[in-house]
Amino acid sequence: MADELIVDIEKRFSSGFVVAADWSAPMRGGAILVLFGPSGAGKTTVVRSIAGLERPERGRIQFAGDTWFDADAQRWTEPQRRHVGYVGQKPALFPHLTVRANVEYALSDYSPTERARRGDEMLALVELAEYGDRYPRELSSGQAQRVALARAIAPQPRLLLLDEPLGALDAPARSRLRSLLRSVVERTGISAVLVTHDRTEAIALGDQMVVLAEGRVRQVGPVLEVFRRPADLVVARSVGVESVVPARIAGAEDGLVLLKVGDATIRAVAVEPVEDIEIDRQHPDVFACIRAEDVVLQRAAPSNASARNHWSGRIVGVESEGAIERVTIDCGFPLVALITRQAREELALTTGAPVVAAVKATAVHLVARS
Ligand code: ADP
Ligand code: MG
Repeated sequence: MADELIVDIEKRFSSGFVVAADWSAPMRGGAILVLFGPSGAGKTTVVRSIAGLERPERGRIQFAGDTWFDADAQRWTEPQRRHVGYVGQKPALFPHLTVRANVEYALSDYSPTERARRGDEMLALVELAEYGDRYPRELSSGQAQRVALARAIAPQPRLLLLDEPLGALDAPARSRLRSLLRSVVERTGISAVLVTHDRTEAIALGDQMVVLAEGRVRQVGPVLEVFRRPADLVVARSVGVESVVPARIAGAEDGLVLLKVGDATIRAVAVEPVEDIEIDRQHPDVFACIRAEDVVLQRAAPSNASARNHWSGRIVGVESEGAIERVTIDCGFPLVALITRQAREELALTTGAPVVAAVKATAVHLVARS
């Protein structure tokens, strides 16, 4: 496939830790591949290898038909010839250069006129058109990260590598840059690999997702697939949320947000994402995220008034994980619950059985599709 990223590498550290990552994924223009995993999983090692800043002992890396690294064929493309843009957790701007000069630094191959024009265009794209004459010390950390992003995309890289670019920001700046990242990637058509261990970021920004744990790829697939159907327990634990339901904001009632999924209604307390929703009223689509341990299963009609959501459905699957079982319910949308085997047996909840699932409004986490 033309725009495919193929990574099949092995890197050994003196500590004995091995990163052996192997996947391939389509990277159509403007798509974001999320490289997800806990700290120490090997994510930075993988993106640095893609950038050419790290040299694995074995394997190969190909992007859009070009071989950047192939140990067997002894092929190695220098980092600058890969034409990738890189943004890390820290913006690493030149302190003695203005914002504009920092961006134009990446445009040394351009004519002076073209450099100035492109520099202005990039600053406008990251909504910093008025900040060209400032120095990095005069910027907030969110603004500095936006300059780093402008500098990375200025020379029109073929691939953008983002290693936890939102990781060092406070919540409001993170939410702002998250929306900006999505729009920049879509408007420029540059595809990106985004490293994160934050599931909100993965859901809001990602198209494809690669889950890395202990140096190994555990799962590859569309983001929602991975959240909905984690390949194994390690993935389920690392993504930390079992049900991700695409829903539409239908209104508000008693201080709760009402969401519609087909005929079903989900009530949620909009805490952190409400600002996203209010900013973006023309995009009423959200994902309702529900952790399996927050779903209470009941056989009969519910009496627990504190749980604002009661969905009737049928059990479509039961998977045993020892004393704990994962129960999948169809209640107009797929919902996963965790229950002890003993409780499940007492309630006679077998596949096909009718069930009521109760979830508190506070346990529904909303993620705006930015
Ligand atoms: P992540 O970005 O997912 O947190 P890293 O790729 O930074 O993971 O590192 C994964 C592991 O690889 C580290 O815990 C460490 O054991 C090892 N490692 C990474 N870089 C080095 C290095 N320069 N020297 C020795 N070991 C390293
Ligand atoms: Mg890292």
